Formats: sequence, C-alpha cells, structure tokens
Amino acid sequence: MSDDIVGVLERELGAGAIVGPGHERLDDYGRDESPLPEFYPPLCAVLVESVDMASAVLRICAERKVPVTPRGAGSGMCGGALPVAGGIVLSTERMKKILEIDAGDLIARVEPGVITGHLQEAVEAQQLFYPPDPASLEYCSIGGNVATNAGGPRAFKYGVTREYILGLEVALMGGEVLRCGRRTAKGVTSYDLVAGFVGTEGTFGVITELLVKLLPYPPAAATILGVFSDVPTAGAAINALLRDGLRPRVLELADKNSVDYVRPKTRYRFPANAGAIVLIEVDGEPDTMTMQMEKIGMRCDDLGAIDVLAATEPAERRAVWEARRLISPALKEGWKIKVNEDVCVPRGRIVEMLARVDRVSAETGIATAVFGHAGDGNLHVNLLSNDNPDDPDVRAKMWAAAEQVFIHCVALGGTLSGEHGVGLTKRDYIPLEQSEQLIGWQRKWKAMWDPQGLLNPGKRLPLQRNACSE
Ligand SMILES: Cc1cc2nc3c(=O)[nH]c(=O)nc-3n(C[C@H](O)[C@H](O)[C@H](O)COP(=O)(O)OP(=O)(O)OC[C@H]3O[C@@H](n4cnc5c(N)ncnc54)[C@H](O)[C@@H]3O)c2cc1C
Repeated sequence: MSDDIVGVLERELGAGAIVGPGHERLDDYGRDESPLPEFYPPLCAVLVESVDMASAVLRICAERKVPVTPRGAGSGMCGGALPVAGGIVLSTERMKKILEIDAGDLIARVEPGVITGHLQEAVEAQQLFYPPDPASLEYCSIGGNVATNAGGPRAFKYGVTREYILGLEVALMGGEVLRCGRRTAKGVTSYDLVAGFVGTEGTFGVITELLVKLLPYPPAAATILGVFSDVPTAGAAINALLRDGLRPRVLELADKNSVDYVRPKTRYRFPANAGAIVLIEVDGEPDTMTMQMEKIGMRCDDLGAIDVLAATEPAERRAVWEARRLISPALKEGWKIKVNEDVCVPRGRIVEMLARVDRVSAETGIATAVFGHAGDGNLHVNLLSNDNPDDPDVRAKMWAAAEQVFIHCVALGGTLSGEHGVGLTKRDYIPLEQSEQLIGWQRKWKAMWDPQGLLNPGKRLPLQRNACSE
C-alpha cells in the first residue's frame, strides 16, 4: 500500500512541499542532535504550511499504512524526530507565524515552527515574558518544546513548558483535527487534554497551533557566580540558600571537570582551586532584587565560597553566564563522543548523585562532567570518550555506563529524564523506573490516539522485548 507514497503526496500537496529521493537535504531529516552514529533517511519529508496540509499527510499515510514522524527543528537529543521505521517525516519548519500577541489577555497564539527565541523576542518587545528557556532556544521550535515539555534554567522559579500552554490544535493520525484547551486564565470544564498532549514526543498527534500563556516582563534581573572548592561545599550552600527561603529564578551547578574544560574559554579567571560553581539569577522589582542579590552574595561568602561575582548590567550578566553557557560546547570540542544524559534527582540527593557519577567514571574508565539545573535536581551527566565513535564496542561501553547512571538515579528516587525526553535513546531503560502496569496503561493510551501504531513508531515506550538498544 505504501507504493509511490511520495508521488501521491506530491500530487495532493504540490511538489514544492516535498523533499524527496535524491534531494540534497533529505538526509538531514534522518538525523537530530542525539549522540547516535546511525542516520535514518525517510522516504521523503513533507514541509507542511498549514493544519490542512498536516491533516492531509496524516490521512494519506493512515490510508496507506505508512509511518509518519513529526519534526520541529531537529534539535532533540534523544532521537525523537528520527524516522526509525522509515516512512514520512512531517516537518513544521515552514509554520513560523506568530498569529497573535494579546497583552491584555496575556497570551500568544503561534504556529508550531516558530523558533522559541523569536517568540521570546517578539513578546519582550511588548514588555511581556515567555519564561521557558531551553539552551537551544535560538534554533529549537516551540512545537518541539511542547512535544518534549522542554525546560531550562529558569524552570526553577517559572516552571517548564507545560505551565505555559493553554490550548492546542492537534492533527491526528487519519486526518481529524482536534482543538483543546482554553483562552482563559483558569478553566476546568473538561479533562485536561492539553496536559495529556504535552511531552508526548509526537506519538499522539501533530501540534499545528498553540495558545501560550505570557507574564509581564520582570523589570530587573541580576546574576551571581559563586565559586566553591568542591561539590559538597557548593551543594551545602545551595541547600542553605533554599532553606533561607530564597527563590532565585536560576540555580545552576557545575562540577570541577566542567569548570576545568571551560576555564580557558572564559573572560573570568577562575581561582586555581575552583572545584564547583553555582550560578544564581534573581529577578523582580529593582529594590527587592538588589536586597536579594546582596543577601545571596553574603550567604555564599559565609558558606565557604572562594570567590563571588555579582552582575546587574546586561553585558556583565552575559559575561557571568559565559562560564555556564560555554561548558557544553567546550566538552563537545574536547571529546569525540559526548553522551549528555539529563537525569533528575530529588534536590537533597544532588551531591550524592554526583558522587555516584564519579564512581561510575572510576569503574568504567569513562570521563564525566556534570552540570545543570541544581534548583530542580536536573543534572546533565556527560559521558565523554575519545575512542572511535564508529566502533560498536565503544558505543556499547558508553551506553552501559549510561545505564549505571540511570540505575543510581532511580535508586536515589530520581527519574531518567528531566527535560530532553525519552525518544529512542532512553526508550528501553524505562522499565528501570516504571512498573509493567504503568507502561501497560501508557500503551493503551497511545493506542487510543494511534490505533495502527503509525505515528512516530518505536519511540517513548520500550519495545515489547527486554533488550536495551540505542
Ligand atoms: C545544544 C542543545 C541544548 C539543549 N538544551 C535544552 C534545554 O536546556 N532544555 C531542554 O528541554 N531541551 C534542550 N535541548 C533539546 C531540544 O532542543 C529540545 O528537546 C527541544 O524542545 C526540541 O525542539 P525541536 O523543535 O528541535 O524538536 P525536534 O528535535 O524536531 O523533535 C523533538 C520531538 O518532538 C516531536 N515534535 C516536534 N514538533 C512536533 C509537533 N509540531 N507536533 C508533535 N510532535 C512534534 C518530534 O517527533 C520529536 O519526538 C537542547 C538541545 C541542544 C542541541
């Protein structure tokens, strides 16, 4: 039935919408930002420009039993947008319109392909604020953020994407279009289908329009960098600041290995004995913010910081952020393989989790660097190697180390992914965390939206066998 699906799609949607066989860009749709050496070329990619086009693709593919993989900007880190079962990639990259910004209702209505940073700039021009700030915001799409329930440093105070999605338009497998949610600030009239779609990684439907909640733009912000001699001292300082009742918008931690990699790249000269950094950002009215900043600075001193840097001007703040932002690129530059996991543990277990990562490193001989959103317990555990990335034994060793990290995280009461999602790479590790019963109910839920199992197959839930795969 899938014979000449490309021809059918071309006839129905126009050749201009299709990136087909032989096109130089087709291979791009078989890759994302996950650390997988394989790529999975689709039969074609369809670049939809409207809900009607998305609906037509889903109708045609359901009739012909062809798998469809939704795709935003392809910045996902766990293979969610890879067409592992072949078939069609449905890309929203041309759906880039900001349809409405309403400063009175504090909402924006947008198409899914809008780049997250562009939405932020557009609302900030009207003194409004869309807080979720994934580090990829300059190139990831808002639809992809909803599909992965993306988070970022500001999630500590403001929460993740889910908190900002009021309504969705979703095209379902078979072509039906569903609108759910509301424009109002509150509303409990129906089951919360909006929350039910957020974070489903393109396995329930294709998001074609979103209604986003906005906040007034915070009048002032300041950034503080606390440098500590080691992780336990930094961890104790974080716990003390939280016990003091302080609620900064950002509370980030990076370990010694991360600091050592970023040290030569930054304008800030780290003290020679720097063993961990804590980056804190506060916002609010200028006077209360200044008080908070002074209090945090003094507390960091009391709690054993070897250096404290505070910045209020945008240029100074950018310089302080540089120390945190450059860690990931510095690691990528320094190592041939960088597997970035994003485990999340209860806040009180962060220091223990870092000690366990050190243990995994000592046991496996794989280097690690850990940084992340300490305020949320969400840690980017980077497993690093300069061995040959194409060697299957090397890859198996990396994933065996990742599995050890997952096991330790779950033992501490944590969860496998705090923000990147499950996709392909974490799919088969889900049973480490969740019961067969819970997985079974999720399978039934998926089957309700996609009874033929054609929408983003092979993702999000373990395959019905016990092996771990990449
Ligand atoms: C350098 C870097 C830093 C990052 N930092 C962060 C971070 O701080 N926080 C964070 O959460 N993530 C981060 N990520 C991961 C990634 O950017 C996010 O997961 C992002 O939300 C993916 O958006 P995307 O548009 O690229 O989606 P894609 O990668 O294209 O797709 C991701 C998933 O969403 C599905 N999808 C995409 N669009 C739709 C749609 N319209 N309807 C239905 N399903 C859809 C896809 O099928 C796939 O399963 C980072 C990635 C990189 C490379």
